[in-house]
Amino acid sequence: MRRAVLFDLSGVLYDGDAVISGARAAVARAQASDLQVRFITNTSQKTRQQLLEHLGRLGFEVRPGQLFTAVDAARDWLREHSLQPYCLVHHNVRSEFDEFDQASPNAVLIADAAEDFTYANLNRAFQLCMDGAPLLGVGYNRYFKSGDELLMDVGAFIRAVEFAAGVEATIVGKPGQAFYQQVLASAGVEPGEALMIGDDVIGDVEGARKAGIPACLVQTGKYRRGGSQWCRRCRRRPKQKSGRVGILFNCWAAAPATPTAP
Ligand SMILES: [Mg+2]
Repeated sequence: MRRAVLFDLSGVLYDGDAVISGARAAVARAQASDLQVRFITNTSQKTRQQLLEHLGRLGFEVRPGQLFTAVDAARDWLREHSLQPYCLVHHNVRSEFDEFDQASPNAVLIADAAEDFTYANLNRAFQLCMDGAPLLGVGYNRYFKSGDELLMDVGAFIRAVEFAAGVEATIVGKPGQAFYQQVLASAGVEPGEALMIGDDVIGDVEGARKAGIPACLVQTGKYRRGGSQWCRRCRRRPKQKSGRVGILFNCWAAAPATPTAP
């Protein structure tokens, strides 16, 4: 049964301030249907409120309860474990962690800190982890696209601290299984009843599939030739040049409800 669709944001619905062709119509169609619709992102340079405003400006109608961010998941995890984090995060999202006493940290959170990924800051994270602080990361994303540029994402910085300190990070966003399970629980659906649409092979496609959720990779955003895996749920495989969210969503919505695996 087809009951939920999960959209990644950047690279699927928009690139920076530009809406990806067909994305608005796909989201509008999903929202008007009986499907549960969720938007899930590892983006950690914007707060939840800034993301909702950005989506609104671009013409996407998204209710607050439909948006799941790795930054929110990080805050929830820290609350749950009663920890005081050292936050190596972007200045835009620092206020999201104001509730925590950060004077004497006993945990490390690494999000996309951009210009704040200095030696001093990474070394502070390393030293805390060497002293036993758990390491938390928003995701192992390799890079992201901003305008026409590809930019290094947070994954390499998390890996650097993991390597130096000999620890393994807990990933609270995609491809973390707890993140996907939280999203499914909010929608009240089983993994096989949902579809994930994203532009990141590891976070969106592999992560979703590990959680049992069929997934599609779009050919927009950070997509690069050679890394693609097409929608295994769809019988009607889209043409190579049509890998946009609108085509993939319409294909899935129109396909038989119980398709066979290829
Ligand atoms: Mg993306």
